[in-house]
Amino acid sequence: MISKDDLYIILEIDREASLNDIKRAFRKLARRYHPDINPGDRHAEERFKRITEAYEILSDPLKREFYDVNGFYSNGVLEPSQKDKTWGFSFQGFNFSQNSESDFSDIFSFARRSEPREPQRGQDLEYAISISFEESVKGRRARFNIVRMDACGICGGSGQEPGSRERSCGDCGGTGKIIRTKGHLQFTVTCGDCGGSGRRIKACGTCDGGGLTSRAEMVEIDLPPGVATASRLRIPGKGNAGRLRGPAGDLYVVVRVEEHPFFKRIGDNIHCAIPLTVTEAALGTKIQIPTIDGLAIVRIPPGTQNGQQLRMRGRGAPSLLNPGLRGDQYVEVKVVVPRVADERSKQILRELAKLNPGDPRSNLW
Ligand SMILES: [Zn+2]
Ligand SMILES: [Zn+2]
Repeated sequence: MISKDDLYIILEIDREASLNDIKRAFRKLARRYHPDINPGDRHAEERFKRITEAYEILSDPLKREFYDVNGFYSNGVLEPSQKDKTWGFSFQGFNFSQNSESDFSDIFSFARRSEPREPQRGQDLEYAISISFEESVKGRRARFNIVRMDACGICGGSGQEPGSRERSCGDCGGTGKIIRTKGHLQFTVTCGDCGGSGRRIKACGTCDGGGLTSRAEMVEIDLPPGVATASRLRIPGKGNAGRLRGPAGDLYVVVRVEEHPFFKRIGDNIHCAIPLTVTEAALGTKIQIPTIDGLAIVRIPPGTQNGQQLRMRGRGAPSLLNPGLRGDQYVEVKVVVPRVADERSKQILRELAKLNPGDPRSNLW
């Protein structure tokens, strides 16, 4: 899950907000948008999810720092040792002892109980991976650890305590509905305790009834030659497992290519700059130029100007869109002017000027 919108805006706080500010903002908004207060309102429900997600990230110093630096946060991007917790839509990490507003704990317990008891597809996960420039053009097999939610090993994903028996829900008398009265109005709502199924189970003690537990897992992917920053590769079924044996989500691997001191990639083309002496540029020469395949010999024609681009066809990065094809390499010439100090060199330059009296500014006005 990637946070496309600004989490600070979602929580209506500024970027310097303290942890207490964040908690206060979350409590205020959670009370306003909680599904129980807005039954059947999809917009409020969506908003509540986003608020909760924003809170989850900004209330955790490590995740907040990652978000501030990268502009997004997704499950699995931090090292496994830092994220050995429950992921996704949960309230972990919230310290109730600091919470003086007692009605907030009602929100919490309701959110737990109202989870539907039917299969749901698991969340997609995103994992950011950094590779070198060389690796991005050659491709490479990447192995890394992720933390994902998987079916609970104790209850097999059912959420039911092994050996316990299912019974009829006491709150709704097994109907799955509850009749509420507000003034003269009477309306029927889905029973929050059983999620409308009319049945209650004894929640599995290991996964708390959710059927999922977090687990570290090693995954492997072949990064094809030509991957670039922001390339997004999918590993099907390696997102979070689905609730109650619903299908698993997918894992998306997002590539970031480290900068190279010499090469710069733009599309499938590779750009670089190479210095030339005035003499080399004026008389022409042959020089060696680094390419991603090694050194190549390039002919510099006489009269080459500063800033001129030389194109080396087919020496760019492999194309992901057109397999088998490669971009070009562009070499920008940087003419280095000598700093002459001795009289003899100055004399030669003056003679050179006399022999070549052209005015480079003649066309300017
Ligand atoms: Zn379980
Ligand atoms: Zn019920």
